[in-house]
Amino acid sequence: MAKDYYKILGVDKNASAEELKKAYRKLAHKYHPDKIAEGTAEHKESEQKFKELNEAYQVLSDANKRQQYDQFGTTYEQASRQGGGGFGGGGFSGFGQGANVNVDFDDLEDLFGGVFRGFSGFGGGGRRSRAQVRGADIQVTETISFKETAFGVSRQLKLYKTVPCAACNGSGAEKGSKVVTCKTCSGSGQVAEVQNTIFGSFQTVRACSACNGTGSIPEKVCSTCRGRRITKETTTINVDIPAGISDGETLRLTGQGEVVGGGTTGDLYVTVRVEADPHFERRGNDVLSVVQVAMSEAVLGSVREIETLDGAVSLTIPSGTKAGTVLRLAGKGITHLRGRGRGDHLVEVKIVVPTKLSKVQRKLFEELRDAGF
Ligand SMILES: [Zn+2]
Ligand SMILES: [Zn+2]
Repeated sequence: MAKDYYKILGVDKNASAEELKKAYRKLAHKYHPDKIAEGTAEHKESEQKFKELNEAYQVLSDANKRQQYDQFGTTYEQASRQGGGGFGGGGFSGFGQGANVNVDFDDLEDLFGGVFRGFSGFGGGGRRSRAQVRGADIQVTETISFKETAFGVSRQLKLYKTVPCAACNGSGAEKGSKVVTCKTCSGSGQVAEVQNTIFGSFQTVRACSACNGTGSIPEKVCSTCRGRRITKETTTINVDIPAGISDGETLRLTGQGEVVGGGTTGDLYVTVRVEADPHFERRGNDVLSVVQVAMSEAVLGSVREIETLDGAVSLTIPSGTKAGTVLRLAGKGITHLRGRGRGDHLVEVKIVVPTKLSKVQRKLFEELRDAGF
């Protein structure tokens, strides 16, 4: 049976161009195969859905083709490729020359934020000559201490992920085996797929699955990876977490995600969590802490040892310091993220009012009071 393009896009027959575009974008996002691990049943299914989606959108977004489709359940172009039924043989052959189902790459670039990499569902006509597959991205969370935020830290992450097969160096060929031209695609890396329906045949081009789109194939496949060119193992990745990073920020390590045979490696995303510190609080690139001083220290002044990110530092409490005064230790704060210099360490003064007085203390305060203090 003919495909119901309206149903595929989930819109009704009277949908406006704007509604079509909206529906297409939403579904294209949902079924984009880049988001799903290659080789899984879900990937295959999403690839199929994505292909259908593009086919439906290509027809319905073109006013002419849409009219033909509405009227005949197919387009002239599709019917002509069937070469027999439908519109009566090659009557419309002018339309059918090399017409693969292509999509608007500009639209997709736009849709996927400029990172669209092409994919096996698309044939020629685009900017990319060869369809590509892409390994999955990996997302991890790493917790660091407050002090590590201030100065930056290196972490070794252990990740269980796909890597190039060590036995064949990622070539997929058994040691000593020759690499020959893929017979399935004759070295082009692509195969045309023709779907015959009573309304016409639909041709799409996808990456050759025999050679993973590379066009060449080993005479004898690697016995370790069975020609898949990848194996899954625990690998250690060094991550430099920069000084000044904030809680919840994510680092992107390009090409440190999952490796895929004959395609682009995915990315690794490291979300950094910063542990709260019992003494320090972050205010931008400044560090805030509190010092509790006695009433006599506030009145007469004193020197106190303050714990900072660099260890203990002497701080002068000037005589006559009011409660709530903020004193500054310049350059003892957090290093500016990807920049030079550091913030300051701010020390808020709290004055401790005694609640329990000894006999002597009470007498002294009474003397102060009598002296008009
Ligand atoms: Zn091939
Ligand atoms: Zn191998």
